[in-house]
Amino acid sequence: MAGNVDPAEIAKFEALASRWWDPNGEFRPLHAMNPLRANFIDARSPVAGKRILDVGCGGGILSEGLALRGATVTGIDLGEAPLAVARLHLLESGLDIDYRFAAAEELAEAEPGSFDVVTCLEVLEHVPDPAALVASCAALVRPGGDVYFATINRNPKSWLFAILGAEHVLRLLPKGTHDYAKFIRPAELAGWMRQAGLRTEEIKGMQYNPVTQHFTLNDDVAVNYLVHARRLS
Ligand code: SAH
Repeated sequence: MAGNVDPAEIAKFEALASRWWDPNGEFRPLHAMNPLRANFIDARSPVAGKRILDVGCGGGILSEGLALRGATVTGIDLGEAPLAVARLHLLESGLDIDYRFAAAEELAEAEPGSFDVVTCLEVLEHVPDPAALVASCAALVRPGGDVYFATINRNPKSWLFAILGAEHVLRLLPKGTHDYAKFIRPAELAGWMRQAGLRTEEIKGMQYNPVTQHFTLNDDVAVNYLVHARRLS
């Protein structure tokens, strides 16, 4: 299914692509989260030597974090500009990552079960049919392999922190980056994962501290959260 994409969402990221690797720019939250989430993934699925697919890789912040830890990474996205930035950044980092313009659904048909780990972080809240993307991620990982999702919960606190706080007060993100209606409750994600044959292994919250400008991992999943799942068979 090549149609699980919202062109307006892709356009938002295309417009900002040149700013992707500025740690103080519009993607600052991704930079701030990255060590935490890359370490979480590496701790749960030691990534050295593993084949990892990073779905919705954007400019490659997570892809590079995983490649640095020794993984063989393929990154896919449907934005040309972020992919161009991701490829250019390899010249700076010296890492080797296979970046492709491809939809997860297409790759799932062409190369099913061919990755040890699939990551899809901060993407589900930007697609028209997140359940279908969850199913594609499940189809792309090998049986027994691991899948990671991260997204934003949907409740008054997440509106306050992720929209009012992050976009309007702290101005961490450009206004309009996120659409509250597309936020996803952990129970909804858990249902889609179950339907896709994924078992939830762990769910953790990521909390932003505006004073230290760092995220910490904890059990409060009210706003940003990270999920580890395993493909059963
Ligand atoms: N996963 C990266 C980037 C998150 S930003 C990280 O966490 O560092 C969201 C990314 O999702 C953007 O690069 C955008 O182009 C991509 N995206 C949005 N809709 C998509 C879709 N339908 N399929 C694949 N990628 C998509």
